Amino acid sequence: MKLAFSDADEAFRQDVRAFVKAKLPADIRKKVELGLRLEHADYVSWFRILEARGWITPGWPVEYGGPGWTHLQRYIFDEETLLGSAPRIIASGIQMLGPVLIAFGTPDQKARYLPDIRHSNTWWAQGFSEPGAGSDLAAVRTSAVLEPDGKHFVVNGHKVWTSYAQWCSMMFALVRTDPQAAKPQEGISFLLIDMASPGLTVRPIRMLEGGTDLNECFLDNVRVPVENLVGELHKGWSCGKYLLGHERTGIAGIGSCKQQLLRARRLAGEQGLSDDPLIAASLAQFEVELMALEYTALRLLSANQQSKVPAVEASLLKVRGTELRQAIYELLVDIAGPHALPFSIDAQFLEALEGGHELAAPAELGTLAANCLDSRKLSIYGGANEVQRNLIAKAVLAT
Ligand SMILES: Cc1cc2nc3c(=O)[nH]c(=O)nc-3n(C[C@H](O)[C@H](O)[C@H](O)COP(=O)(O)OP(=O)(O)OC[C@H]3O[C@@H](n4cnc5c(N)ncnc54)[C@H](O)[C@@H]3O)c2cc1C
Repeated sequence: MKLAFSDADEAFRQDVRAFVKAKLPADIRKKVELGLRLEHADYVSWFRILEARGWITPGWPVEYGGPGWTHLQRYIFDEETLLGSAPRIIASGIQMLGPVLIAFGTPDQKARYLPDIRHSNTWWAQGFSEPGAGSDLAAVRTSAVLEPDGKHFVVNGHKVWTSYAQWCSMMFALVRTDPQAAKPQEGISFLLIDMASPGLTVRPIRMLEGGTDLNECFLDNVRVPVENLVGELHKGWSCGKYLLGHERTGIAGIGSCKQQLLRARRLAGEQGLSDDPLIAASLAQFEVELMALEYTALRLLSANQQSKVPAVEASLLKVRGTELRQAIYELLVDIAGPHALPFSIDAQFLEALEGGHELAAPAELGTLAANCLDSRKLSIYGGANEVQRNLIAKAVLAT
């Protein structure tokens, strides 16, 4: 069964597909196809290509450089870029901070920060989570105290799980400015912090698959100019909530599910496993689940949908989409068998790239165990799946 899109949406899809085919640099495409780690330069190079086409900030209003797409067009864009093996738009500045500055920032903050975010000149770290403040984010303890002359905050605390902090020159952070506030959500402020400030130390965290894209950030008497406060003092929770609720369309990761399911079908064929009854049954099962998920997502995105509980529906998509993707990665490891764990795939890839020759099939399979381990994060970030289930249960059972 094929989903029917309007002619205009189909034309848009073809436009995106042709653009990705023509403009995505071959070495980046190859890395994505093989599930290899991308460097900062890979992302910046692709993001600037998107920026030149006016496509880098799909979630921003047109007057700030957004393309003015419908939700469905954004969905199609996500799907086509992923199926074309382009990197995801992962920059927190684009996905998270931009919309917050547009909604809550001063004219000076917008003029100073938005252009550099759009052009990928500045990468921003998200300084929300702390030890003891993850799912329960309102428990943040990093303190910001205004100096007596009212010109600077002095920030002390410990942020954790900070994605790509090693590439970032700025951080947006939730900090506690009023420890006496009646409720934990009150007395929090939203601050922009220069990562080069004296007293700010970044320490990498080694991840399951061997990478170090997560970090801890220690803030020891870091001075932050008062003009770096976004929104009102003590009202940063509103900015944080807006930020977390802003990104809805890509939450199910349907494009990524399709990308990896296609990869599973291809690799099963190459490994002579297409007729293996267990592999064939799993592929068919995931195909059906993906189709059901896609129909659900498209129903929610359709312009006529008047949902009473959109946040809960987003939770549902997040849980189903991330768990399906994890299951597909596990199937990929089954397909690869012992080839899933080579000694060093990066070395093999670099050698092949430099020598201008194709990787042997087992070498491609060698990324799969790492990809599968990496996929464990999907059910944690963006709100852990257990917490999403609580939200669903509360909405469905408690009414
Ligand atoms: C890859 C990755 C990238 C991330 N990047 C960033 C980033 O850039 N910036 C940032 O600020 N944060 C980032 N995070 C942190 C992320 O937001 C937190 O990991 C997440 O909110 C969960 O918090 P926690 O890790 O403290 O786990 P906890 O909140 O301590 O939870 C531990 C376990 O208990 C469960 N649990 C917690 N509360 C409940 C409950 N009420 N009911 C049932 N179960 C519960 C959780 O589901 C989880 O399984 C990232 C995380 C990951 C994995």
